[in-house]
Amino acid sequence: MGSKIFAPKGTRDLLPDEVKAWEMVEGKIKEICKTFNYKQIRVPDFEHYALFDRGVGESTDIVSKEMYTLNHRGKDVFALKPEGTSSVIRAYIEHGMSSGITPTKLYYITSCFRSERPQKGRQRQFHQFGIEAIGSYSASMDAEVIMLVSTLFNKLGIKGLELRINSVGCPKCRSAYYEKLKEYVKPFENELCEDCRDRLNKNPMRILDCKNEHCKTLLKDAPLMVDYLCEECNEHFESVKDYLSNAEIEFVVDPKIVRGLDYYTQTAFEFVSTDLGSQGTVCGGGRYNGLVKMIGGPDTPGVGFGLGLERLMLIMEEQGLLNDLEDDEIDVYLAPVGKEASKVAFKTFKKLTDSGIKASIDVMDRSLKAQMKYANKVNTKYTAILGEDELQKGVYTLRDMRSKEQEEVNIENLFEYIKEKLGE
Ligand code: ATP
Ligand code: MG
Repeated sequence: MGSKIFAPKGTRDLLPDEVKAWEMVEGKIKEICKTFNYKQIRVPDFEHYALFDRGVGESTDIVSKEMYTLNHRGKDVFALKPEGTSSVIRAYIEHGMSSGITPTKLYYITSCFRSERPQKGRQRQFHQFGIEAIGSYSASMDAEVIMLVSTLFNKLGIKGLELRINSVGCPKCRSAYYEKLKEYVKPFENELCEDCRDRLNKNPMRILDCKNEHCKTLLKDAPLMVDYLCEECNEHFESVKDYLSNAEIEFVVDPKIVRGLDYYTQTAFEFVSTDLGSQGTVCGGGRYNGLVKMIGGPDTPGVGFGLGLERLMLIMEEQGLLNDLEDDEIDVYLAPVGKEASKVAFKTFKKLTDSGIKASIDVMDRSLKAQMKYANKVNTKYTAILGEDELQKGVYTLRDMRSKEQEEVNIENLFEYIKEKLGE
């Protein structure tokens, strides 16, 4: 016998009971995306490494530390996708979607891969629901995207999530801000962690996102992007806030939100739960006006978010929102006793399942007593018994599992009879 093989660290099996909860949530997601007129897109799990290097940014933690890279026969370099946006934009460009309807409104539910230290709410393979709205510069687009996810939280009954928004400006206003930021850190630049010193050269704003406690202390009073926005970005930010207030969507401005990806411009936002500690960010998103062009497409703006489904499920579990999910039920369980009866019942089984009636049949050659025990466990509305006596008489004994009433039904008529009963 071989030794046991376990699932890789940082991955998790979802067993049927849990899948039931996931299906409920995914169903709501699909419903809401339909309500808001977003269409589903499915993208591959691996892409050319260059896509993320360029899209997410080579200096980000995601690309420089967390990405699973595959060298394929020394020829191609691929990466397991760490997020959805780059892939969706790649597909948008590749399929010429810019010549279709504008804005292009897409959503996805997909696996993402990041080589991180596994913790509660942090896995190496996890799942994101995300949307991308491509083609509009308007602040109302940002507000719509935020509204969609806030509607989802409401429909799922989730409480206590805080919407935090910020503006990270555009390349134009950023350069002036970077000068200020560099000036501010100059006196203690050497005290910053190695990563931050590196960030100062590549994407200075990201030092504000550093998790290192010493860096956090040093940067407590650092100048903030919101105070240096150009007129256009400032107006856009004010307008996003206006739309949200107007729609009665509560938010707080958090000038420290920079997000871990390079492609964001103007709006950046997060939905944060206080329940999950440092894994509190359930959803992160924002505007990315430079991304489409950066990965080879036309100069097109976009806005979207990625929502971690594992974290969403954890919050829902904690808030008791996954307790009363309906048990799967079958309509009829066929309980034949003996080989001959089994053959006859199998024919009925085919008729039932052909017409979409949820049915199950004994495949363990169990005794009638054992079969009745099984029938009670699988949660069936009816059990159709075909013992020796029944077979001789040409009938099933049909037992209504709720009322416990029994009646005899002709073998040939069982299908029609059940169909009628279920229609009542
Ligand atoms: P964090 O700061 O928690 O590492 P992040 O900024 O890296 O999050 P994003 O890249 O914005 O996260 O991804 C969007 C969402 O995906 C997160 O808000 C989170 O809900 C989820 N997520 C990110 N990484 C993981 C992971 N390793 N395991 C589970 N969910 C994750
Ligand atoms: Mg991360």
